[in-house]
Amino acid sequence: MKRFKIIVLLLGIALLPIRGFAQDTDTELPNIKILATGGTIAGSAASATSGSYSAGQIGIQTMINAVPGIKKIADVSGEQVSNVGSQDMTVEIWLKLANRINELLASDDVDGIVVTHGTDTQEETAYFLSLVVKSDKPVVTTGSMRSSTSISAEGPLNLYNAVAIAADENAKGKGVMLSLNDQIHNARDVSKMNTTNVNSFASPIKGMLGGVFYGRLGFFREPNTKFGKTSEFSVTGITKLPRVDIIYAYTDMSPDLIDMHVKAGAEGIVIAGVGNGNMTEATLKAAKKAYEDHGVIIVRSTRVATGWVLRDNEFKDDDYHTVVSGDLNPAKARILLMLSLSKGKKLTEMQQLFDTY
Ligand code: GLU
Repeated sequence: MKRFKIIVLLLGIALLPIRGFAQDTDTELPNIKILATGGTIAGSAASATSGSYSAGQIGIQTMINAVPGIKKIADVSGEQVSNVGSQDMTVEIWLKLANRINELLASDDVDGIVVTHGTDTQEETAYFLSLVVKSDKPVVTTGSMRSSTSISAEGPLNLYNAVAIAADENAKGKGVMLSLNDQIHNARDVSKMNTTNVNSFASPIKGMLGGVFYGRLGFFREPNTKFGKTSEFSVTGITKLPRVDIIYAYTDMSPDLIDMHVKAGAEGIVIAGVGNGNMTEATLKAAKKAYEDHGVIIVRSTRVATGWVLRDNEFKDDDYHTVVSGDLNPAKARILLMLSLSKGKKLTEMQQLFDTY
């Protein structure tokens, strides 16, 4: 018995270097592609204590090199898709990004994707991707509120965490996620809530999907709407999307705003309504006319940061041909309406889509 124990011990010692060697190579590390689009995470300023900076200045390789330890958690490589402040994100870049992600994820060589992006419109890109990416592999968007040259820049840790999420088995099948400031959000539920603070994002109605701490992560819940592989939307064959505008509602709002947007060529309009998706009676009548005369579909969303817009609340939506966005914020309601119109969806199908996605 004693001899057996000694043999096991010696065998264990003999195998240690082999285990150690295996851990040091990256042969078993997940392959994660980082697609860079610009934003503050790639921004630089003249001084480390200046809040003024230019977004989208540094390239993807410089960003990867600035993250200590990133190569220990994944086999990372980067591609520059664009380098813009996300206020200049376009449908053209969305389509390029979505097509590239679908192409990469179809390959056995890629296990997950990280997209670096400005924070201003990151939730829109994330939601768009969640509807058109056809894979269960993780896609995580990230960015930063402080530029790469700032004192206490948080971009490198956000990127490290995003790669850890994309490399994690448990992140599969959760759709597109947005991660900044140690938080993991579902693309559909998240909104930018603060203009400058590092704690800028929140999912005000449903809460975070999970959390991440120096690459260690956990999930608290599942997304509860349709996305990804089961989504009926795709970018195959699409080169542009129909024009959909957003109108912000306010006291004594004039109905001619609707007419102006219809005249400019909008095929759909989202109203960032007051309260529960409301607008002046005159605007509501203009909305009804826009559909009856021009087939323009009007979606009622809200300018309020949190809460649902409910159907038939203060009037019958059918009487005005309006659709309600539920808890989709105006910018995301616009994306769903654009994709729905691009598929030739009719008013009769629209509410069902907004209830599903
Ligand atoms: N406007 C810039 C952008 O969205 C700065 C915001 C940021 O990235 O934090 O790219």
